[in-house]
Amino acid sequence: MENWLTKRARLTPARVAVTDGQKQMTFSEVAQAAAIMAGRIAALKSTRTHDRIALLMVNNISGYLVIMALQQLGKTIVFINHRLSVAEINYQLSDADIDILLTDDAYKQKLFVQQQVKFSDLPSGEPITPVNDYPDDFVTSIMYTSGTTNHPKGVMQTYQNHFMSAMGSALNLGLTATDAWLAVVPIFHISGFSILMRSLLYGMRVVLVEKFEASKINDWLIHDTITTMSVVPVMLKTLLAELPDDVNYNDHFRAMLLGGGPTDQQTLQQAQAHHLPIIQSYGMTETSSQVVALAPEDIQSKLGSVGKPLFPVTVDIRDDQGQSTSVGNIWLKTPTLTPGYLNHPKQLNHQVSSGWFNTEDFGYFDTDGFLYIQGRQGDMISSGGENIFPDEVESVYAKMPGLENIVVIGVPDEKWGAIPVAVVSGTHLSLAALRDYGRERLAHYKVPKQFYRAKTWYRTASGKVQRHRFAQVLTELPALK
Ligand code: ATP
Ligand code: MG
Repeated sequence: MENWLTKRARLTPARVAVTDGQKQMTFSEVAQAAAIMAGRIAALKSTRTHDRIALLMVNNISGYLVIMALQQLGKTIVFINHRLSVAEINYQLSDADIDILLTDDAYKQKLFVQQQVKFSDLPSGEPITPVNDYPDDFVTSIMYTSGTTNHPKGVMQTYQNHFMSAMGSALNLGLTATDAWLAVVPIFHISGFSILMRSLLYGMRVVLVEKFEASKINDWLIHDTITTMSVVPVMLKTLLAELPDDVNYNDHFRAMLLGGGPTDQQTLQQAQAHHLPIIQSYGMTETSSQVVALAPEDIQSKLGSVGKPLFPVTVDIRDDQGQSTSVGNIWLKTPTLTPGYLNHPKQLNHQVSSGWFNTEDFGYFDTDGFLYIQGRQGDMISSGGENIFPDEVESVYAKMPGLENIVVIGVPDEKWGAIPVAVVSGTHLSLAALRDYGRERLAHYKVPKQFYRAKTWYRTASGKVQRHRFAQVLTELPALK
């Protein structure tokens, strides 16, 4: 396909492409600025000999322009999560075999890489002639998974992946010429980067927001004509907590795309009370964003479901033997599936069979064809022949007064095979109160048998609880009495 930026700048040159609240640029201005920025990157001596360049950016216009520029040069972008520790970033730089790293000006740490250059330190150079094509199978982005279950994996994504993903989303949500998508989810994750690709394909304005400050974002959604925003569950909770009861978002606002992890019913109900158009969705880095999402007309009646497979996507639920079943592993067939993990060519193979991809998430369809996610296969606790999903137990406890955090994990047990226990934080918590609360609302086998108290709460940079890290330290934590 023709270079998306060149094409977009020709189709709708005067439409606003991007704004950060202070500055805004049209598609034609972005195309020009990207060619200039590309010239500066090309002026780095080693650029020519490297196909992959790493990028550490925040959600601002200079980072956005560097992405556009790297695509103009035909370089693969390796996204680095700036919220990670230096050791974690060094792991990713070495895993991806990176020599050149471009960083946001505010980033101060020295990383283990041959050449680390701040955007403003890029040399001057002549604007380049952009690549003619964005080839379908070209890997334009490599981004690391959240690292919820283990070390993050570098997922390769092609232009074709992003194109089909953007089409699937547009066929679900629809498009208008005045659409504007607020991007406060990080661009170094697929949730953020996919917004930039959709913007080029749809001709849509992106509102880049660097920091998640709930009151400012609410303000923006109330007063600007933003139509769409992507959020992870913790962001939705915070926005709701700050939103006054009698206030609604602007009349054009039509989709709050929610995904990345489970959301408890209470938060969903609260959002419904505010008439927020919550579109639950399900996807992962490996599928280049959402693959299943609710349609706008189903958001009231199917609260809690992540919806139906998007137009290009097929979903099958299979048992451990790979046979279709009603409740089990979620398998997908999708043109948005990654060609593989960078530098680990065999790693994806054990999850792929005849073109189908085993997500290793568990779920089921209801009789109307709506998908419900139960949790990750690796988190499932098999206790006396029953399956327990920590997400369900945690979601029930989310409403308990005084409880701030809870994570449920399985521990080996002689009699039952495994039993659920929980790690909690909060005030005025007692073993009896926690047990009673669970017993009144859950089947007895699902109620954690022991509760431990933790001071440190292990989360990924995107706010997902890292269950395995709690499991590692469980024996060191004090048990509630
Ligand atoms: P890692 O693979 O490194 O352990 P991760 O799987 O959390 O990290 P991502 O690709 O960011 O990395 O997240 C995708 C996963 O998030 C899915 O496989 C699923 O487990 C979970 N997820 C995504 N959307 C939802 C949702 N709506 N409800 C429940 N879980 C979800
Ligand atoms: Mg994963």
